[in-house]
Amino acid sequence: MKCPVCGAEVEESARFCPKCGASLELVRNFIVSTTPSIPGYRIKKVLGIVTGVSPRTRGVLGRFIAGFETMFGGEVKAFTREIEKARNEAIERMKSKAIALGANAIVGVDLETSDLGLGSGIVLISATGTAVIAEPE
Ligand SMILES: [Zn+2]
Repeated sequence: MKCPVCGAEVEESARFCPKCGASLELVRNFIVSTTPSIPGYRIKKVLGIVTGVSPRTRGVLGRFIAGFETMFGGEVKAFTREIEKARNEAIERMKSKAIALGANAIVGVDLETSDLGLGSGIVLISATGTAVIAEPE
């Protein structure tokens, strides 16, 4: 696996990143939730808002839609996959920031897809949430 803080390649069983010292135990148990609270947990500290973005050019998405709509008559699985990939990327980036802040969870996560407009042809997928330290009740 990759250390989410510094990006170094670390062993699957490692408890700490040998390069930056981040707790990988924490990374594996990290909670990402769209709800403002986590059942069974108490929020001990709010560390702040974290955001992760993943830009995609509309050209890439457009080609997906065009190509696959013709093939499957309206089914756009490849497009869905591409959006999901972008969303996961945005979430992972947001997580890295939260971990760097010392959080072990992100609550109130909101995913947004926005068009940068003005003919830029860029679609921005962003994830925003509140980084917190949560502990089991
Ligand atoms: Zn690291």
